[in-house]
Amino acid sequence: MGVSLTDSKSSELYARALRRLPGGVNSPVRAMRAIGRDPLFIDRAEGAEIIDVDGNHYVDYVCSWGPLIHGHAHPLILDAVQGAARRGTTFGAPTAAEVDLADEVHRRLPSVEMLRMTSSGTEASMSAIRLARAATGREKLLKFSGAYHGHVDGLLAQGGSGLATAGLPASPGVTAAATAATVIVPWNDGEAVVAACAEHELAAILAEPIPANMGLVPPLEGFLELLRNQADANGALLVLDEVITGFRVGRGGAQERAGVTPDLTVMGKIIGGGLPAAAFGGARALMERVAPEGDVYQAGTLSGNPLAVAAGLQTLRMLDEQAYLRLAATTDALATGLAAAAASRPVQVVAVPGLLTVFFTGADEPVTDYAGAQACDAEAYGAWCRALLARGVYPPPSQFEAWFPSTAHTGEHVERTLEAAAAAFAEIA
Ligand SMILES: *Cc1c(COP(=O)(O)O)cnc(C)c1O
Repeated sequence: MGVSLTDSKSSELYARALRRLPGGVNSPVRAMRAIGRDPLFIDRAEGAEIIDVDGNHYVDYVCSWGPLIHGHAHPLILDAVQGAARRGTTFGAPTAAEVDLADEVHRRLPSVEMLRMTSSGTEASMSAIRLARAATGREKLLKFSGAYHGHVDGLLAQGGSGLATAGLPASPGVTAAATAATVIVPWNDGEAVVAACAEHELAAILAEPIPANMGLVPPLEGFLELLRNQADANGALLVLDEVITGFRVGRGGAQERAGVTPDLTVMGKIIGGGLPAAAFGGARALMERVAPEGDVYQAGTLSGNPLAVAAGLQTLRMLDEQAYLRLAATTDALATGLAAAAASRPVQVVAVPGLLTVFFTGADEPVTDYAGAQACDAEAYGAWCRALLARGVYPPPSQFEAWFPSTAHTGEHVERTLEAAAAAFAEIA
């Protein structure tokens, strides 16, 4: 059964954690409040399985929220990290592997002629925006409602009422000034984008090309092309945040799948192979504005950290055609099986290779934007997740997140998952 037994090690740890860490965690979604239960405290993990401090095993579909595309503790990635660690954990000086990683990224994403590494996706999107503003001499950004680009002040913005609105602070502590230059538009709403571009001189249009932070809400046919065209007509840069999709939905990320070339790409998660690393990059002329080549300041004590670079490089090297075929087949088996398990219930499964979301809303209400995702039955989703956890399956503990299958998930893991899913649907009926 689950871990909420009052005398479990998890509950003891949680009680201790609550006294020292806000909400008992170091990042909010881990607390599992959205599904109405206590967090899992993890002891260890291997491949597609994660084990909590009480010895409960779960098939893991969170996989650290995306970095672990080869599952946990892959021996070759561990070797790479240990090898790097033995040579020194950080130098504050450049290394060969950083150049190798930049080469590998460029082979996959030809639009990224140069890149700058950071330690988190938040820093990477913050720095990409600074560069976009410097390059265009403009301040305003267009961002989509429900899209997440890290906890950058100016991007913790929410829309008001109306189609395209000036951003309002989405958190106390974010100043009105920080979000005033952010224009918020509903995802997949071409008319709203066109209207916003007609009204504002933008530094950048910023988008997750396949949004996965409001649940998975792929772009409608032609929408990314429209963003490219509108950015060009406006004189704005197109910044694609591929922190989740990059290296996951295919070798060259969502930009390759869609055939849409951004000016700047934000990368993270997989690029660090489970250690803290992220990056932003684009055309040489643009990236040469970054210090010390250019005048746009950007820096980081641990940027390009040798352990993270070793993990990232090894992770990318194992992402060959076979790996992508396997990941796509696993995603497809899961998506098809979950939809079948849901039967006639008001549930829809949205998937692209490497990502999926189970939305608790009827098939007659396709989720195309954040408002659609918010209309889902989060209560029923929570109950279903609790029932899955009790059966040894660890889904993302929020309706607004995606499942992250990995190359470590086998047919047997999928089978176990689908059995648990069917039983969980029956339990919450
Ligand atoms: C996770 C995420 C970020 C932020 O990355 P951190 O490393 O958590 O700061 C940015 N953009 C997207 C699309 C993400 O999913």
